[in-house]
Amino acid sequence: RNMTTAELREAFLGYFGQHGHQRVDSSSLVPHNDPTLLFTNAGMNQFKDVFLGQQDNGYTRATTSQRCVRAGGKHNDLDNVGYTARHHTFFEMLGNFSFGDYFKEEAINFAWTFLTEELQLPKDKLWVTVFEDDDEAADIWINKIGVNPERLSRIGAKDNFWQMGDTGPCGPCTEIFYDHGEHIWGGPPGTPEEDGDRYIEIWNLVFMQFNRQSDGSMEPLPKPSVDTGMGLERIAAILQGVHSNYEIDVFQDLIKHIANKLNVSDLEHASLRVIADHIRSCAFLISDGVLPSNEGRGYVLRRIIRRAVRHGNKLGAEAPFFYTLVGKLIEVMGSAAKELAPQQASVEKALKAEEEQFARTLDRGMALLNGALDNLAGDTLDGETVFKLYDTYGFPVDLTADVCRERNIKVDQDGFESHMAAQRARAQAANQFGTDYNEAIKVDGASEFCGYSKLEQTGLVQ
Ligand code: ATP
Ligand code: MG
Ligand code: MG
Ligand code: MG
Repeated sequence: RNMTTAELREAFLGYFGQHGHQRVDSSSLVPHNDPTLLFTNAGMNQFKDVFLGQQDNGYTRATTSQRCVRAGGKHNDLDNVGYTARHHTFFEMLGNFSFGDYFKEEAINFAWTFLTEELQLPKDKLWVTVFEDDDEAADIWINKIGVNPERLSRIGAKDNFWQMGDTGPCGPCTEIFYDHGEHIWGGPPGTPEEDGDRYIEIWNLVFMQFNRQSDGSMEPLPKPSVDTGMGLERIAAILQGVHSNYEIDVFQDLIKHIANKLNVSDLEHASLRVIADHIRSCAFLISDGVLPSNEGRGYVLRRIIRRAVRHGNKLGAEAPFFYTLVGKLIEVMGSAAKELAPQQASVEKALKAEEEQFARTLDRGMALLNGALDNLAGDTLDGETVFKLYDTYGFPVDLTADVCRERNIKVDQDGFESHMAAQRARAQAANQFGTDYNEAIKVDGASEFCGYSKLEQTGLVQ
């Protein structure tokens, strides 16, 4: 079947609606009630307390299309954008949820029926994984569903034990992959080549059974539950007969629009994909209440905007352009933009201000960086230059690293950190009682996000 992204979103919610699931709106990208989470990263976030048995919404089955951002914290795909066919910083996650209602067998059955009957995907292109110890799930797949055992593999906790963060609801999962064909490099899940883009994970079904505590121990949840997540853009790619998410209707419309604005003729240019991705996360983050700043969530947003602006600069943009993409974005996102649309003007304004501010130092910073790279001996850019770009020209480290990566060069992260530490010490000496803003910039580049409680106490996070 061929379907637009909008039709697919509707087909999913409709299917689960028919099977007794309450249709619930996407929640905000800012998880206001959860200090352990940077941004909403999965459909289950808004139901965390329901899984924990601390909240009763009056239904035991729900379905959503949840906007998600994975650009920091436990799930961070920022550096994959522009490099893989399947990762965005912002994407929509389709999900069905059972709160102590159905469990493994029905969850697997729903997913399989939706994919193979509603969407009519060929069964022999679907591969599945289960958590290594989960004999029950393996048995359901092979004996009840009839999946060829050659297309099922058992995987360890890294990929098949899902958790939203360092604490909170978690459990073993089973994942469904789609084989895009031999012409694309990559191996099936569980093989050394799995990170290629031939076998793409489309749906993750999590059997929520535990609540991970901050000391690492796991408490059983009051009732075994189900949380699933399927990337809307990934399943749309399959139904539209394309390999990359960036080739689906929503992205192509956006990419053509950007190419037109910037007078770029090569529609395959990776920078177009990056900009198309980043306008989605940035516009939706701002409409959900985040503003560019030097700490916490706002700093993650600032980093994404600056990366996008740098890619525009690479494509030859001479004037602020990023903020002008919001209108087209609203148009292509359809019903998913219903909260963004009324805020178009204020989102544009915030983006424009950030873009103009960065534009003042971008050219000079790029000249410095390119000069340093041209004269580089070895394969690593020194920490002092990385720090100078950060401190004087407003280049977040990951932006510098992004430029370097295009030329196969690494940045000296440790060297940068020691310059930061020295600056911090100078600032502290100068102002014994001031707030240490640099402390909050720690999210930068780090893979662990340790929670906002401290920042919230100091009033740094709005
Ligand atoms: P991958 O292994 O491909 O990075 P994941 O295992 O990290 O995906 P999950 O946490 O299981 O992803 O999320 C559920 C689903 O959401 C995935 O099966 C996928 O379809 C989709 N998804 C996850 N991350 C992204 C992303 N960055 N961009 C687009 N879709 C995503
Ligand atoms: Mg991932
Ligand atoms: Mg995965
Ligand atoms: Mg997964």
